[in-house]
Amino acid sequence: MNEVPSANLNLPDPHEIRVGVGQLLKHLQRVGVEYLPAADPGRAEQWTTTLLASVAQPAPVAAEPSAAASVTPEGLGQPAAAAPPAPAPPVAAPAAPVAAPPAAAPPAAAPPQPAATPPTAAPQTPAPAARPQPAAAAAPGPTIYRTASLPIADRQASLDHWGQQVAQCTLCHELACTRKQTVFGAGHAQARVVFFGEAPGADEDREGIPFVGRAGQLLTKIIEATKLSRDEVYIMNTLKCRPPGNRNPLPDELKNCRPFFEAQLEIIQPEYIVCLGLFAAQSLLQSAPSIGRMRGRFHNYHGSKVVVTYHPSYLLRNAKMKGAVWQDMQMMMRAMGTLPA
Ligand code: URA
Repeated sequence: MNEVPSANLNLPDPHEIRVGVGQLLKHLQRVGVEYLPAADPGRAEQWTTTLLASVAQPAPVAAEPSAAASVTPEGLGQPAAAAPPAPAPPVAAPAAPVAAPPAAAPPAAAPPQPAATPPTAAPQTPAPAARPQPAAAAAPGPTIYRTASLPIADRQASLDHWGQQVAQCTLCHELACTRKQTVFGAGHAQARVVFFGEAPGADEDREGIPFVGRAGQLLTKIIEATKLSRDEVYIMNTLKCRPPGNRNPLPDELKNCRPFFEAQLEIIQPEYIVCLGLFAAQSLLQSAPSIGRMRGRFHNYHGSKVVVTYHPSYLLRNAKMKGAVWQDMQMMMRAMGTLPA
């Protein structure tokens, strides 16, 4: 059992193991685990050696190569029948003890306040005691989210709170007068992936849920092709109200709505944000020359990896661009570990 395996065994690369463990620690932090063992490079080396000595078989790969390969751009929405069921949404299942938040903790680290309509009160959710130390192998991007990640119950409460703020918002007079209702967002408060669109259309305005029309049905297929479900991801738009006649969002409208989507992202702190179309990319990254020039690499938003791709409405008019979107999704899946590199 403890014999050092012979050199020709197909063992995982120790560096990959360290990176993988770092990513796991980062994931645990995201889902609200507050206390994690501090990284110690010397011990990590020793641990890796011990681990390698005890590994008889390489660790299973996250995704079945054959199943993954059988999902094609044309098959967006027709994931291979043999594909394993998508993993359940992450649950805070700590490997290390999780401290209960202190009774007298201050209110939850509040997401950014909308400039013109500050909410009266943030939900009274306890803040985690201390921000855990970032894992050594999981360095954040140039900027990171301002608040520690919240436990699931607090996330949902905070999202509900912001949803109520949005429902009362009248900053954009025309939109407030013409909307049937606001469309805040839908999905899992601990989603690894947020899909970020432009603005509600007529169907969304009627139902109060993002991406339920024709473009939404295509988005559902895209999500399912990535081995996820709508319930596991979070879906939202830059604008929370329908622009009349589905016209483009106006600069002032984007500015007014920005604090709301910033708050949603601050609460969810997803690992990935998929910007659907130029308005989403421009709003999030505050500069985006064109989708074509932004595709094919990750951008950064407060430590979330940002994928820029075409909007499903555009795909409905240009079916040949589905392959490009599928490439973008594959790039994300490889990084997520759900498609072999
Ligand atoms: N297009 C979007 O960008 N968002 C929706 O919710 C629906 C269509």
